[in-house]
Amino acid sequence: MVADKAPDSQNKYNDKLDVLKSTQTVVQIALEKLGYPEEVFELLKEPIRMMTVRIPVRMDDDSIKIFTGYRAQHNDAVGPTKGGVRFHPAVTEKEVKALSIWMSLKAGIVDLPYGGGKGGIVCDPREMSFRELEGLSRGYVRAISQIVGPTKDIPAPDVFTNPQIMAWMMDEYSRIDEFNNPGFITGKPIVLGGSHGRESATAKGVTICIDEAVKKKNMEVKGARVVIQGFGNAGSFLAKFLHDSGAKVIGISDAYAGLHDPDGLDIDYLLDRRDSFGTVTKLFSNTITNKELLELDCDILVPAAVENQITEENAYNIKASIIVEAANGPTTLDATKILSERGILLVPDVLASAGGVTVSYFEWVQNNQGYYWSEEEVEEKLHKVMVKGFNSVYNAAETRRVDMRLAAYMVGVRKMAEASRFRGWI
Ligand code: NAD
Repeated sequence: MVADKAPDSQNKYNDKLDVLKSTQTVVQIALEKLGYPEEVFELLKEPIRMMTVRIPVRMDDDSIKIFTGYRAQHNDAVGPTKGGVRFHPAVTEKEVKALSIWMSLKAGIVDLPYGGGKGGIVCDPREMSFRELEGLSRGYVRAISQIVGPTKDIPAPDVFTNPQIMAWMMDEYSRIDEFNNPGFITGKPIVLGGSHGRESATAKGVTICIDEAVKKKNMEVKGARVVIQGFGNAGSFLAKFLHDSGAKVIGISDAYAGLHDPDGLDIDYLLDRRDSFGTVTKLFSNTITNKELLELDCDILVPAAVENQITEENAYNIKASIIVEAANGPTTLDATKILSERGILLVPDVLASAGGVTVSYFEWVQNNQGYYWSEEEVEEKLHKVMVKGFNSVYNAAETRRVDMRLAAYMVGVRKMAEASRFRGWI
């Protein structure tokens, strides 16, 4: 039977939610504005390398399940590619490609010697046992081992992956390579060569961007009403940091629902009760939806979960005056335009969430030199990098009279375009 064709309006809407297409659109505009010829876009619009793998895993009931995984390497002109591995049922090839381009842009904005990479496995780790997850993590590394490595492509954590998964992956790679190789992956437990401050780095980077953004808006973090979508690695640490600096976190959510208290939520209690997948709302009955959460009356909104949460359908209803994107790709291009026209200061993902890859870089440097830094040293270095990155994007937006997303792409794309040119690729 032939499926009915989707109506045109539905196709157009799906196109707008196509994160690869929207990323390519902004990359193309950024390159045009910077005066690069068309072939630069042709090179940068897709990863230079994309691997699809099939991973057999023996499940607890003794059956064999085959999982699909991806690894995308966007551009390695500047240096090895770098980026997380996502375990999620909604992972697609297009999403992984877009995520690898965003990683290149982040590395460009905060000036790291990397190109972007990203990986993903289509699975639901919430439904899998510890033993099954170990089998999947090790199987993925075996499948991609030929194209990754500390001087080629360095993985890290992302949605639903954590230091334990990084440890299994590092161990598997070290076995294949026949020597201990901590620089193969970042986001490891400290005892295996992880960096102080890595687990909270993305949230720290977002906090630094919030501090800079409130200055631009003549506001203060203390007393500001904050809503955070997502209570995982990025969202939960962020809630804690903002709560501790005197902000009032009035809304949080996870994949199932949201919690709202206009007087401020008890963040320490919620942190204590959340599970390792960032789920906490199941313990409550008086919840709101994620849609309602995004439209709450607040000063600062932080999407810290998944893509395509702020669209043209809800952009007019957003009440926050500052949006800081901790998640990758939470806002569509139409919504970006609407928010920018409404005078809302939007700090885009490729800048706001660059704290994670920055401290991953610090971890890799420490592994390479075999000398480890204190948490204070890491924080001080991260602070410098993020403030510089924020101001280069903010200043580019002001001088070029473009929105913050386009400004961030212009700052981020330049280094890899130049490096590709010097290498004689284009
Ligand atoms: P995580 O797995 O630790 O947490 C994800 C959170 O989002 C959980 O609370 C989960 O319940 C919630 N969630 C999942 N699906 C959802 C949905 N459909 N609607 C609402 N909530 C949903 O992941 P994380 O590491 O905190 O990553 C969150 C975002 O931040 C992602 O976009 C990720 O790419 C981005 N990011 C993470 C890092 C990092 O270092 N962890 C770095 C840069 C960017």
